[in-house]
Amino acid sequence: MSVEALTPPPHFIQQMIADDLHAGRIPATVVTRFPPEPNGYLHIGHAKSIHLNFGMAAEFGGICRLRFDDTNPLKEEPEYVASIENDVCWLLGRPLEESPRFTSSYFDQIYHYAEQLILTGKAYVCDLNNEEIRATRGTLTQPGQESPYRNRGVEENIDLFRRMRAGEFADGSRVLRARIDMAAGNINMRDPILYRIRRATHHQTGDNWCLYPTYDFSHCLADAIERVTHSLCTLEFEDHRPLYDWILDQLDINDPRPHQTEFSRLSIEYTVLSKRRLNLLVNSGSVDGWDDPRMPTLAGLRRRGYTPEALRRFCQHIGISRADNRVEMALLEHCVRDDLDHRAARAMAVLHPLKVVIENWPQDQVEWLSAPCHPQDDTMGVRQLAMTREIWIEQDDFRRQANKDFKRLVHGGEVRLRNGYIIHCHEAVTDAVSGLVTELRCTYDPDTLGVNPSNRKVRGVIHWLSVSHSLSAEVRLYDRLFTLTSPDADSDAAFLAMLNPESLTILPNCPVEPGLAHAKAGDSFQFERVGFFCVDNRDATDNRLVFNRTVALRDSWTRKESH
Ligand code: ATP
Ligand code: MG
Repeated sequence: MSVEALTPPPHFIQQMIADDLHAGRIPATVVTRFPPEPNGYLHIGHAKSIHLNFGMAAEFGGICRLRFDDTNPLKEEPEYVASIENDVCWLLGRPLEESPRFTSSYFDQIYHYAEQLILTGKAYVCDLNNEEIRATRGTLTQPGQESPYRNRGVEENIDLFRRMRAGEFADGSRVLRARIDMAAGNINMRDPILYRIRRATHHQTGDNWCLYPTYDFSHCLADAIERVTHSLCTLEFEDHRPLYDWILDQLDINDPRPHQTEFSRLSIEYTVLSKRRLNLLVNSGSVDGWDDPRMPTLAGLRRRGYTPEALRRFCQHIGISRADNRVEMALLEHCVRDDLDHRAARAMAVLHPLKVVIENWPQDQVEWLSAPCHPQDDTMGVRQLAMTREIWIEQDDFRRQANKDFKRLVHGGEVRLRNGYIIHCHEAVTDAVSGLVTELRCTYDPDTLGVNPSNRKVRGVIHWLSVSHSLSAEVRLYDRLFTLTSPDADSDAAFLAMLNPESLTILPNCPVEPGLAHAKAGDSFQFERVGFFCVDNRDATDNRLVFNRTVALRDSWTRKESH
């Protein structure tokens, strides 16, 4: 698969902004925003939105801001605020141009806009409770019923609303509703709720407020206050656009007038991109926190070894459209493999070790063999590998017998040790009980370092490590979090039952090159012939090496499925 071939032409939003500027429909400065609610960690779906919003601002010389859409204190946490800002900067690869904004810092203005709607008869205080409001909303085929409080006079409404603000009424006893049309075809226009009473301490505004605006009411106003020109969001908000426009129309906000445009959400096979679902995985203990390397969160992907460059390329390649589709995991993996191939130093690690004794190698002799740290990039230098009488090879790289497609070591056959000598196997020691091979007896040919004798065809090259000159590391292998391409279920329990029970395999004692002792948290390596790995940023210490597999060298999943 060539990623270049997937580069999309300019997408419809790019085209729209160019046209708006050209026609003079918007102010000269394009303003966009990325507006997460701080109720969870960012996931790769958010990366698509960040890439789009910051990308459009950069392309048209405008500005994009991070704005926390913090109108529901019950679900929000300062921990999420901090993680979101950190993840946005990490993904962008730079600090923000402006400090983040908070919808909560506009609560005064939003409140005044609400009073303005009341004063013009466009909003009213309704005493129905939540269930009653839901029950009278109607359905797609039936109109809703008007609230008995709909025709309250302006004075009564403003008085009640001010008393709501002053804390005179219980949570849930009254709401402020827009006065639009209970028979509207679009249910969002049937007198939607604008404010609810909720005594909850807010992470930014403390106990200043006991009532909070809804998403629908605050979002368009925050956009207007920030002079956003293009409010880009995902398709589930399309049905809310008439309300977005209605509010701005009633308040006569035209200078400039923000416009909402929708694009399709990102979904990826074998995982979920919904904060509610991700929250469930964390809270049920199904994963090791928001940054578990199996999570599609930016924190999880970072801990797994994904680079921001790989994620940005991924966003570039999936493009922007209004068509819903589920992107193959293979594309995401391709992007990170491609990126790490250039930047990751090579090293050797043996995941499932099998001991080999080189019988013609003197007992205590150590020979240092040079190997490049990167096959194409000389600037990364060389490393030294210790060759000794006892070495580890991968169990899979030996078979007692095999057909000629197996290019590694067989009993009676030869193989080259990567960056080393050719060895010949003349005996496989087996365990009497299990019948498993426990050790190989081999000889090496001293004339084969760096040269291929013309009389012998040795096609296989395998990785290896000295038994005495290697370190032990814990290696964590990750697989798909879910067994299904589109995990979804009505109940949480059924959803959790779709988790892949084999999504994590821990190999506690893998020999690795001694040079890896100096690796720092987050450093990436290609373990030759095995895959890309990075030093775990949480559990690794000076005395404990822990590597996470970012991605295998080849896509074993697709192969498995096609068999
Ligand atoms: P979730 O459904 O995961 O809880 P959300 O939409 O509630 O996500 P927000 O914090 O409101 O999360 O999202 C911030 C922005 O990111 C919104 O503009 C939203 O449209 C966008 N966004 C969220 N999920 C995706 C996705 N999967 N693909 C693209 N954009 C997304
Ligand atoms: Mg949302």
